[in-house]
Amino acid sequence: MLKFPNLSGRRGFLKSAATGTAGIVASAKTGLTAQQTPVSQAIPSDLTLRVKALESLLVDKGLVDPVALDRIVDAFETKIGPRNGARVIAHAWVDPGYKKRLLADASTAMEELGFHRYQGEDIVALENNPKIHNLVVCTLCSCYPWPLLGLPPVWYKSAPYRSRAVIDPRGVLKEFGLDIDADVEVRVWDSTSEVRYFVLPERPVGSEHLNEGELAALVTRDSMIGTAKVTLDVGKVPA
Ligand code: FE
Repeated sequence: MLKFPNLSGRRGFLKSAATGTAGIVASAKTGLTAQQTPVSQAIPSDLTLRVKALESLLVDKGLVDPVALDRIVDAFETKIGPRNGARVIAHAWVDPGYKKRLLADASTAMEELGFHRYQGEDIVALENNPKIHNLVVCTLCSCYPWPLLGLPPVWYKSAPYRSRAVIDPRGVLKEFGLDIDADVEVRVWDSTSEVRYFVLPERPVGSEHLNEGELAALVTRDSMIGTAKVTLDVGKVPA
């Protein structure tokens, strides 16, 4: 059962941050669902309140159009970012030379496909294989490879994920529906502002007949964070 909700969209975040966060905290600490959690815990986070206040001011003054904001943020959250990463992954799957360069120096390799770093950070690709499963987190805040994955999902920034991914990675992965065999080593990588990790997932069995574009369509954001695998039937990049 997924305890880290896949909340998409900024509106959804603002509306559900309070109950969602309370639910995550409650389920992690007490086993209660958000609905079973005392109302007193459903207080929006400081960040949520600041974002809401700032947005309200800008909208009131006519400086921004909330609909346009939603479209821009949604594009980075679900379209532009993850698709960039998916293209990199698919290219690595079909071109062994590119895969080698990607694993040696992802920052330079992604530039070959036209994706550039925004802030001079190093980007590192971590290869999953039958014996090693990589999981990415930012324990401090929300460091994330924006040029490849777009904006981080809400759960990636949540305190329960940031702490529990390190303390109990297998348990967290199980909550995402990923049961990692005991003989597979789980490695957790802590992204920082200087070094940001992303996962090169395993190419799914049975995908040999697919071309690069079709393969890219299978690659999900979560598979590049390490909370999912790429599969032939359920993996789809949002349209
Ligand atoms: Fe961070």
